[in-house]
Amino acid sequence: MNITYFGVRGSCPCSAPDQVRYGGNTSSVLVETDGEPPLILDLGSGLRPLGDRLAIRFARSGEPPKVNVLLTHLHYDHIIGLPFYGLHQDPDGHMVIHGPAGHEEGPGLTLPRAVHPPYFPVTLDEFPDQTTIHDLPVPSVFSLGGYRVMVQAVAHAGFTVGYRLEINGSSLAYLSDHQAPLDGVSVEPSVMELCRDVDLLVHDAQYTPAEFGERSDWGHSTPDYAVRVALSAGVKRLHLFHHDPAHSDGQLDEILAGAQALSRSLGGPPVEAAREGESHRIGEG
Ligand SMILES: [Zn+2]
Ligand SMILES: [Zn+2]
Repeated sequence: MNITYFGVRGSCPCSAPDQVRYGGNTSSVLVETDGEPPLILDLGSGLRPLGDRLAIRFARSGEPPKVNVLLTHLHYDHIIGLPFYGLHQDPDGHMVIHGPAGHEEGPGLTLPRAVHPPYFPVTLDEFPDQTTIHDLPVPSVFSLGGYRVMVQAVAHAGFTVGYRLEINGSSLAYLSDHQAPLDGVSVEPSVMELCRDVDLLVHDAQYTPAEFGERSDWGHSTPDYAVRVALSAGVKRLHLFHHDPAHSDGQLDEILAGAQALSRSLGGPPVEAAREGESHRIGEG
C-alpha cells in the first residue's frame, strides 16, 4: 500500500509564503495498491491536483478511470474538492463514494445538494462521468476490492468516522478529525479498534495545547494526544495531519519537534507531519 498526500490542512484551504513546505490544501489522500483501483480518503481541496495525477495514471495505464472514495464526514473541508475533480469530464469516469450516514442525513442526500446551483453552476448528474454514492452503516467492516475496511464513529463536531484499511498484510488508520478528551490520554474502544497495531496512523493534530485550551470542544486534537493514541494502540508510525490553516511552516516544524520529543520520551513510535506531495510506502504489501 502506498499513500500520497494531496491535502493535509484542516478547516479551510490556505496559501501564504510561509505555508509552502507543508501545503495549503484540505484533506485528500490517495491510497494505491498494485492491482486495485485508486482509493481516495476525503474530498478536500487536495482532490483537484489528485485528480490531475490520476488522469495521467489512467492515460498511461489504459485502466478504466474508476476510483473509490471513503469520506469521513461532510464538513466543507472534506468535500469542497468534489466539483473540481477533473475526471468528472471523462464520460468513462466513475467515482464511487462511501460515506457515513450516522444519525444525520448521509452523503447520498447531502452531496448532490452541495454540488448544485446556487453553490456550483452544475449538478453532479450533469457531469459527463458517473458518480455513485453509498451511505455506510456505522460501525461496519466490509470489502472494497482487495481492501478490508473498518469504519467506526469517532468524537468530532458532528457525526464523523475514522477508517482502518488492510491489504496484503499492511494496515493504515485514518482519523482526520478527532476530538481529544479533556484528560488528554484516554482512548475510546472504537478508536483503539481502528488503530491497534497499524503500520501507519494518520491522526488529527490541529491545535497546540494552548489553542486546545480555548477550543477544547471544536472537534480536534493536539499533537500530544495523537502521540498518546499511537502509543496506546501500539502503532508503528504516526503522521500528524489536519494542520491548522493559521500555522506557518515554522510553527509546524516546532509542533512536529515537540511531538517527536514526547513520543521518544514515552517510548512511542516515529512521528512525522504529513506534507502535501509526499508519498509513503506502508508495510510490505
Ligand atoms: Zn476537517
Ligand atoms: Zn470536521
